[in-house]
Amino acid sequence: MQNMVILGATGSIGTSTLSVISENSDAFRVFALVANTNVKRMAELCRLHRPTVAHMVDATAAQQLKVAIAELDVEVTSGESELLDLVSRPEVDSVMAAIVGAAGMAPTLAAVKAGKRVLLANKEALVMSGRLFIEAVAEYGATLLPVDSEHNAIFQCLPRETQQQLGRCDLKAAGISKILLTGSGGPFLRAELATLPTVTPAQAIKHPNWSMGPKISVDSATMMNKGLEYVEARWLFNAGVEQLQVVIHPQSVIHSMVQYQDGSVMAQLGNPDMRTPIAHCMAYPARIVSGVEPLDFFKVGQLSFCEPDFSRFPCLKLAMDACRAGQEATTVLNAANEVAVAHFLKGEIRFTDIAKINEFCLEQVVQSPLDSIADILALDGEARVCARKGLALCH
Ligand code: NAD
Ligand code: MG
Repeated sequence: MQNMVILGATGSIGTSTLSVISENSDAFRVFALVANTNVKRMAELCRLHRPTVAHMVDATAAQQLKVAIAELDVEVTSGESELLDLVSRPEVDSVMAAIVGAAGMAPTLAAVKAGKRVLLANKEALVMSGRLFIEAVAEYGATLLPVDSEHNAIFQCLPRETQQQLGRCDLKAAGISKILLTGSGGPFLRAELATLPTVTPAQAIKHPNWSMGPKISVDSATMMNKGLEYVEARWLFNAGVEQLQVVIHPQSVIHSMVQYQDGSVMAQLGNPDMRTPIAHCMAYPARIVSGVEPLDFFKVGQLSFCEPDFSRFPCLKLAMDACRAGQEATTVLNAANEVAVAHFLKGEIRFTDIAKINEFCLEQVVQSPLDSIADILALDGEARVCARKGLALCH
């Protein structure tokens, strides 16, 4: 029996994870559910999954949850530092890291430092902490498994020895020439460029193939998501920028590919449903059912590919350049983007302002070297202050 903690239980990945656990209740148990403020959804999840602990980071939300599930035998806890203790408890075998944004970094790192099996969905944590994260995985003997569908696909296409050296592998020595990171291009792949300044949050979060939380959906529309994934791939697979290529594949059937020096290309395919990579990470190296429909090639019909257009997707270009520049730049970009997306979702700035704010912060923030988590959080904070200043330029 694997005891799991679900960080971000009330979100999209949390929901998919709980669905895979329910399909495999003989082998997996929910030890703890973690969320921020959504009491109603958390109470429903507690009734359904009967965790040992339910943790609301927000103290008021935790109080409300206590009242809402008073009849259940569930320990309700709250707080940021208490969350770090929770993921480190000895009963915990694996942790699904699916809190959105920078808020997920500290608890994900705590799980790594406790040597847990860490299923990583929270790409922002890795974009920010990069080298420190990868070093901590090795130092504390944690097992890292990539949930993000592209990285999970790449992982599945790697030789077993390379899989076991995540973050420290040598692609070249494994005969790999390139990682081909696929992306759908989102809802605006073929929209008239002139219409982009006036697209609404509702249009931006309507992804053609995937159903996801609001922040990552906006990131998919700007292709910042692919940019963050480019950085994520850089760290997970110890890849140089010359070994990474973004390929637009609108059908989202191929989830990414690995090109070998002999001309072979390995790809992982499936319906666009996160339960597949989640189930893969939960059971690795075994396989379990996920509840996802088998892929029907006759329904798919066609697979197509094209190159990304940076005039349509400036955020992708910013992220690729930041990746080349280093971890300081990607940390600034990640923080700026989080602020910009939040303001776009509130209807306060235009869709095209997101890239402007990101670029402004990359130019303005002094990028001091990152030697500790404290350094990372300080730089993240400065970038957020700068991004809020940048908002003023958008009116
Ligand atoms: P979501 O918005 O649906 O859910 C976010 C979850 O994080 C919620 O449970 C919320 O309570 C929790 N949360 C937010 N702020 C928090 C805080 N300060 N402290 C504690 N918990 C907090 O997001 P999602 O789509 O499930 O994405 C989660 C993560 O997984 C993101 O990093 C995203 O990039 C990544 N991811 C998502 C998908 C997908 O298909 N949804 C695919 C790949 C990667
Ligand atoms: Mg992805």
